[in-house]
Amino acid sequence: AVHRIYNFSAGPCTLPLEVMQQAQADLVDFGSASGGKGLGMGVMEMSHRSKPVVAVHEAALASLREILELPDNYQVLFLGGGATFQFGMIPSSLAANGQRVDYTHSGAWAKKAIADAKAVGADVNLVYDGTDNSYTTLPDPATVQSTEGSRYLHLTTNETIGGVQWKAMPSCDAPIVADMSSDFLSKPFDVSPFGLIYAGAQKNIGPAGVCVVIIRDDVLEQCNGEQINYMNYANHVKGGSMLNTPPVFQIYMVGLVLEWLKGKGGLAWASEMAEKRSGLLYDAIAEAGGGGYYSCPVDAAYRSTMNVVFRLPSEELEAKFIAEAAAQGMDGLKGHRSVGGCRASIYNAMPLEGAQALADFMREFAQKNG
Ligand code: PMP
Repeated sequence: AVHRIYNFSAGPCTLPLEVMQQAQADLVDFGSASGGKGLGMGVMEMSHRSKPVVAVHEAALASLREILELPDNYQVLFLGGGATFQFGMIPSSLAANGQRVDYTHSGAWAKKAIADAKAVGADVNLVYDGTDNSYTTLPDPATVQSTEGSRYLHLTTNETIGGVQWKAMPSCDAPIVADMSSDFLSKPFDVSPFGLIYAGAQKNIGPAGVCVVIIRDDVLEQCNGEQINYMNYANHVKGGSMLNTPPVFQIYMVGLVLEWLKGKGGLAWASEMAEKRSGLLYDAIAEAGGGGYYSCPVDAAYRSTMNVVFRLPSEELEAKFIAEAAAQGMDGLKGHRSVGGCRASIYNAMPLEGAQALADFMREFAQKNG
């Protein structure tokens, strides 16, 4: 059997074994995964304009459209630069000339998006700022509205470090621009409020190095076109998301992960599993050692189904917990270096057994170290 552990890393993170095994074959001889001879060259070695690679690219785009049931007035792009590049590319395209934009400040990732919007000269207005609650909760979406003349309202659907997740979208006058990096493809959702969605691939969709951008036609038309070539969304749309040499291998991997997701049952399956996995862990937090041993700082109404953050009674016990879990084949449980504590990231490719194993370990650890 292949040696695999349960990898709770926040991203890059665990990917489906089937996908990794197919990639292993295609890496050396593209098309050989099912047994016979392939093309005699690896997928990373082929021109992005070659027929097989164009087919891979188009299949990945089509799978994404199918999974999201995306209407024709949305365009899909696979871009380089990660989600971080979008922090600046979005306001630079839509609001660089001192135009008004609304942002919600929900934590570490929102903060970076806000900083870059300011850096490119947008007039940034905070419609929500979680500083007072240390980003442990979110506003009731019904209370969130865009302001007069705002080009868009930006939000981070899931704060990967803080473990807070929006459960419903506000209905606001401006289009919503969403950083969905860490909960994209984890549940079905209505795309219609969104003018632009972006997600770095390295959580639910593939390896790092490619960012999915979905942009609505009316928002695309509002881009001011004054950017350098790469930063102009319209140029990417015109080029069929092949304006330049795209991250071919990453897109190939995304295509495989999307095929895998479709086979499992798409977003309905992803959502059911995410609820189960996170439920197991939040239950363990609430009940282990009779309760109170673990604590989750996040408001129960906004706890993430993707990144479960928790603390133990002391930092010493946290270090012991992380080390003992690793010794039992559960890796990546250290919280982000900026906040400490523990964090279990449980994206689509984490088997339910992994979450169960961690929940069992948490109960046992609390018993022994109470
Ligand atoms: N936004 C969120 C919510 C993230 O979790 C991350 C990465 N962890 C980013 C943006 C940045 O993504 P990238 O490293 O791909 O630029």
